[in-house]
Order: sequence, then C-alpha cells, then structure tokens
Amino acid sequence: MQDLQPKTDWARIRADFPILNERVHGRDLVYFDNAATSQKPRAVIDRLAHYYLHENSNVHRGIHELSNRATLAFEAARKRVAQFIGAASANEIVFTRGTTEGINLVAQAWGTKNLKAGDRILLTEMEHHSNIVPWQLLAQRTGAELRYVHVTGDDGLLDLSNFEALLDGVKLFAVTHISNTLGTVNPVRELCARARAAGATTLVDAAQSAGHLPVDVRSIGCDFLAFSGHKICGPTGIGVLYGRAEKLDAMPPYQGGGEMISRVDFQASQWNTIPHKFEAGTPDIAGAVGLHAAMDYLDEIGRDKIFAHDQELAAYAMQRLSEIDGLRIFGPRENHAGLVSFVLPEVHAHDVVTLADQHGVALRGGHHCNQPLMRKLGVPSTARASFYFYNTREEIDRFIDVLGEIHKFFSR
Ligand code: PLP
Repeated sequence: MQDLQPKTDWARIRADFPILNERVHGRDLVYFDNAATSQKPRAVIDRLAHYYLHENSNVHRGIHELSNRATLAFEAARKRVAQFIGAASANEIVFTRGTTEGINLVAQAWGTKNLKAGDRILLTEMEHHSNIVPWQLLAQRTGAELRYVHVTGDDGLLDLSNFEALLDGVKLFAVTHISNTLGTVNPVRELCARARAAGATTLVDAAQSAGHLPVDVRSIGCDFLAFSGHKICGPTGIGVLYGRAEKLDAMPPYQGGGEMISRVDFQASQWNTIPHKFEAGTPDIAGAVGLHAAMDYLDEIGRDKIFAHDQELAAYAMQRLSEIDGLRIFGPRENHAGLVSFVLPEVHAHDVVTLADQHGVALRGGHHCNQPLMRKLGVPSTARASFYFYNTREEIDRFIDVLGEIHKFFSR
C-alpha cells in the first residue's frame, strides 16, 4: 500500500537555520550541542524582528495601540503554550526565565508553604543541578529530608525496585523527563501516578523533552512541569512553568512588584489572579512572542517525527561510536533520546571537545550540571554529542572520523 504520510524533507528544514552555514576554524560547522541550547530557525528570528519593528511596548496596562499589540501577542503566546503542552487553561501557564526559574518558583512558593521538618522530597540521581539545588535550599529552610531514586549504572535507568518504599512520607517528587547526560527517557506518566497515589505533589523537568517529543501535562498527570524556550528553537530568557490551577491558586507569590498585585497599600497588598500573581515586573515579551513562533515551527514538523529522527541519529551515533576501541558509552541502549555521552579511554573529555572544535565539531564536555551522577558513574566528566532534527548522519560520520583521529593521536 502506498504511504499516505508525506515524507519529511529534513534537508529543506535544515536550510531554515542560517547559523548552520557558519564556518568554524575553516571547517563547516557540525553543531552537536543541542542539549545545551538549540539553534533558531529564520521564522523565530523574523518574528523577533517583527515584534521590535511593529509591536514593541509594555504589556497589560497600556491603553495605546502598541501596548494592545504587545499584550495581544504576549497573551496569544501563553494560550499557545497551553495548547503545546495540553494544559486545561492558559491560566496555568506562568512565564519564567527558564526551567531553572520554574523549579525555583515551585520550591520557594509551594515548598515553603507546604513543607515542614521531617517531610521528604524525592528526586532521582540523574537530575540536573537545577532540579537538585532548589530543593536543597528548601530542605535547609524547612528541615525537610532529601531522598533519591538510584540510577542503575552505565545503563542509566531508574531503579524502581523500591520506589513505593522511597515514596513513604514524600510530599514532593520531582523527576526529569529526559536525562541531559544519559539520554534516558523516564516513564513520567507512570512515576507521577505512583507518586500521586502515595500523596506526593509532582514536578516534571521537561527541559530536554518539551521540544523533542509530544508532551501532554494532563496525560502525564503532573502538578508542575517546567521547560526553557532556548532549548526548543525559541529565544534565551523565556521559559514556562505549568502548574495545575488549584496548586497555583493556593500558592503565595514568588516575587513582589508590578503586575502581580491587584491592590497595594502602604502596609499590605492583595495579589493578582493566576498566572499574573507569579509574574512580577515587565516580562520577557519578545521572548514569549519568539517562543510562540518556535512552537508553531516545531509542531508544523511534528514532535513525534522529531523524536523518531532524534532516536535514529542517537542509534546511529552509538553504533558508530562502538567501533572505537575502548570507548565507554553511558545511558540505555534502547529507547534512547537524541544525545550520547561517552568517554574515550585515557583522554579527558575537555581535550576531546577542544580538539573536536578545531575540526568544526561543537560538542560539550564536563559534568553537564550532573556532578552527583558523575561521581556515581565514577568519572569526572563525559563528552556529549546532542542532536536535533536539523542534524544528519553525514555529520555523525564526520564526528566519528574526528574522534578516530583524536583516539589515534592519544594512543600513539
Ligand atoms: N534540566 C535539564 C534536564 C537540563 O538539561 C537543563 C539545561 O541543560 C536544565 C534543567 C536547566 O535549563 P535552563 O538553564 O534553561 O534553566
């Protein structure tokens, strides 16, 4: 039977990213640092320019035309985010600076009100520092205790054998959807269901997932979910915190200032309704508008197709990497997201990244904001290649050739 689905023209899509034509150290750029930040398509760059050329003004309280335009564009972006992640209402979407600020907001506003000494916070050993340190600060303030779901080792899966026991007394369970070092895709729907059944409030760190696969907060069943615009083809400086309306309603504000109040007196104030209660000061209007364009762009391709492409590139990269003698790969071999962490024998990850850069290949080396996980894996750092839909198998071949040369150089 004929395939009725039109084939995705990845080469045409790649041409939407002007920066990918850059030359670096005299070579064509291979950009494999997408887990740190993605590149931006022309549609997003043009939308930002259009905003500053035709709509720029401050939002909400303006009565003049430009302020109306800016407000309409900003609030349209909020509605689009709600649709992008399947939220019930745009009121459940708080604009932040990024994933980190979203998690800090929950730890500060929800956590300080709801946690007391002896309560437990459950995280996993594969969390990014952004999903560890805010909870440590909360634990220090409240006397709550931190617990961790273990990671199985180089396979990079969560050890769920004692999950119910770990959930005992837990008020907050926070988990990453996709690990930025291991590429593990965690079963967040199942984990949130089990945590909620045990009475815990749940938060999903979707920094590595929101732009890579379809994410639906109501299907996941989480109370909070955070992600960053810059990792999903949007601008830096804008992010999203989703919060279930009843949770956000019951939370005190995070920061004080303009926008988040309904009335201010000299001694006390009353708060605005959600989500504005959590958006003190002038927001990143251009960022939200650019993020809107990024979400439209991604959904036009289809996040299911993007994820299939990511997985195909990761599988190909792992197959090619395993051709290099002694190279150690971290993370699961199956159901792997579009990134690969590895260590070349006897070569520090920073040397791998520095030498690869000389060949125009942008990797990342270090602890990837996963220091406790690195200690658990017994390495100071790894090198990481992270892919997005504009990357190609040919780029992986070039990367493998470069790694082969680095390996040869160090084994002389
Ligand atoms: N969580 C994960 C899993 C990440 O990979 C990152 C960034 O790399 C973050 C959180 C923090 O994101 P941001 O720096 O955009 O706040």
